[in-house]
Amino acid sequence: MAQPTRIFTDVDYEQDGKQVGWLYLPYSITRSAYGNISIPVACIKNGKGPTVLFTAGTHGDEYEGQIALCKLVRSLQPSDIRGRVIIVTAANLPAAMAGTRVSPLDEGNLARLFPGDSDGTPTRAIAHYIDTVLFPMVDFYHDLHAGGSSLDYVPFASMRKSGNPELDARAMAALRAFAPPTGLVWAHSLDSGLSVGSAIGAAIRRGIVTLGGEFGGGGGVSITGVRVVERGIRNLLVHAGCMAPDGGPKEEPPRTRLMEVRGQDYFVLASEAGLFEPFVELSDWVQAGQPCGQIHFVDNPAREPVPITFRAAGMVVCKRRFGRVERGDCVAHLATDWKG
Ligand code: CA
Repeated sequence: MAQPTRIFTDVDYEQDGKQVGWLYLPYSITRSAYGNISIPVACIKNGKGPTVLFTAGTHGDEYEGQIALCKLVRSLQPSDIRGRVIIVTAANLPAAMAGTRVSPLDEGNLARLFPGDSDGTPTRAIAHYIDTVLFPMVDFYHDLHAGGSSLDYVPFASMRKSGNPELDARAMAALRAFAPPTGLVWAHSLDSGLSVGSAIGAAIRRGIVTLGGEFGGGGGVSITGVRVVERGIRNLLVHAGCMAPDGGPKEEPPRTRLMEVRGQDYFVLASEAGLFEPFVELSDWVQAGQPCGQIHFVDNPAREPVPITFRAAGMVVCKRRFGRVERGDCVAHLATDWKG
């Protein structure tokens, strides 16, 4: 039996209507002995039906999802839907308010700490609440990401292979329904696989149809990314059975190019600390062995730069934003067309 959460809320998830309230996480500090971290949550419910959960701000410096969900909170009415839509616009609120990937309170990365801990640090307590209180109510879950300050991404929605063919087929159907210009299948990822504490992995383990996505990056806001999310989340509500098709977008959705990340060799890592000069742009197609860039040593300019090459062929969907690198930093990764 899991520990009960220590987070309390003024929102009743079983009540019909529209509620916008807060998840209160007790946080006792000098300024406020009985203080709380107040994480916004919206619950829009109209009778029986499926439950869809959207989260953004899992990483605080990823903004397209936060913007699109703020708009959804204001626009979505109970009469628009059947069932229930739960929206958490800034899941790791302290990180979102600081504009940082991890929480300034505990250095917690909310996408790496599931299933969390009710008695743990703030980020662990938030993960525990999402896993033990929200996930058991949910049929469809979409965690909206971007590359964060350090990475730029070609905007895409994504699904992660779960090892369960039936669940994967339902996630693929949801991804196609979301109708992003690019849809990506994570068959492999550098660090956020199913076993290392990701929200998406935790949702998949509970049998929830789960999507992710990287809708921009670099600590900025992609106009295209916001549009893709805004249109896609309504498409997903239609697909889930929460919304009638005529409540959705009027324009024709774009055709989705399905791509995948197949292996470790899709990722390019810096081999030295230095200043990385990239040779490719996002959306470029490259060959194995092609130079990705080179690392300069500004403290020893006579030293020859160290070349970094791609180990696989594919399209550059992700690039490091910052110039300075440490050994082991990911400077780019590829995707290739989905083979099914
Ligand atoms: Ca992210």
